[in-house]
Amino acid sequence: MEYQKSSHPLQQISTGEILSIHAYTFTGSTSGATIYLQANLHGPEILGTAILGKLITRLEQANDIPGKVIIVPCANPIGVNAVGYNALVGRWNLHNGTNWNRIFTNHLAWKNLEEQKNYYQSKLTQSNLSIEKKLGATLKLLSWEATHVIDIHTAGSQSVPHLFTFEDSSQIFSYLGSKVHLILTKEYASGAFDESHVLPFIDTLPKDIIPKVCTWEVHNHSEIDNSVVLERFQQLWNCLSYIWGNEKKLEMHEPSMFLANNATHLVAPVAGYYSWQKQIGTNIKIDEVYATVYQPWHNQTLSIKAEREFILLGKYGIDAIAEGEQIGWIVYL
Ligand SMILES: [Zn+2]
Repeated sequence: MEYQKSSHPLQQISTGEILSIHAYTFTGSTSGATIYLQANLHGPEILGTAILGKLITRLEQANDIPGKVIIVPCANPIGVNAVGYNALVGRWNLHNGTNWNRIFTNHLAWKNLEEQKNYYQSKLTQSNLSIEKKLGATLKLLSWEATHVIDIHTAGSQSVPHLFTFEDSSQIFSYLGSKVHLILTKEYASGAFDESHVLPFIDTLPKDIIPKVCTWEVHNHSEIDNSVVLERFQQLWNCLSYIWGNEKKLEMHEPSMFLANNATHLVAPVAGYYSWQKQIGTNIKIDEVYATVYQPWHNQTLSIKAEREFILLGKYGIDAIAEGEQIGWIVYL
């Protein structure tokens, strides 16, 4: 298939070069879903960019698709260029600490998608426009007419594939193959990209025309593992095939569903050098030891036990840590 490639200037840096967002739009000959996919909104979360590269190649080889597919392989060139001491560190804008996935509007109510488009178009013409508002408006204008949105992220230094979605979209995105679904609700609202396509319409539009959205946490940060890229691409293709109505050949795996409100960061109960005793994906029961902690100031090692039962979804990979700082991503049972 042929496609249109468009470039959207985002930020001129101090030496004059311009960072841009690139979008690939494949338009089929028959009507159907408008599927918007993006990756790398958070700088260290690069694997999705490679997965979407495979999707572009696959669609180039396709004869036709129903509807439209819009692909933004790198949603945040500022974030991915933020590096420090062998690490990608652009989860936040390093200038001001803003989390790049908390910049979207979800507190307003719009009666139709056009109103949303007009809102973001007017944002782009405002004076005193912050780069967060410019990035937010640019991505929303690329995705404003989407019926389906898949925002690809990664989590931790190791993580179990999981995704965030609303309850009525869980079945569609189960074809992505993640075993854990964290269910978003109105109360969870945080300013993330996924929910910004739903919450402003939740009281104004019929359920069946509100976009179906998910944030898909595909693997761990800062790594391109080719075998994982291939596996996730196949899962993504399964999900797109389902949306396109080719579901008969597919096998769907029932995910475990939890309220996103029950997912949280696990923090270090004591300071020291942590050594995990459990693997990601493990269900850890009350009083089970999940880590040992070496405390060098008195040369002792403590065992850390779970105070509540949880599933360990991800490890953050900083082994020497102060009390109360984040060490993992969990969901309480
Ligand atoms: Zn992320």
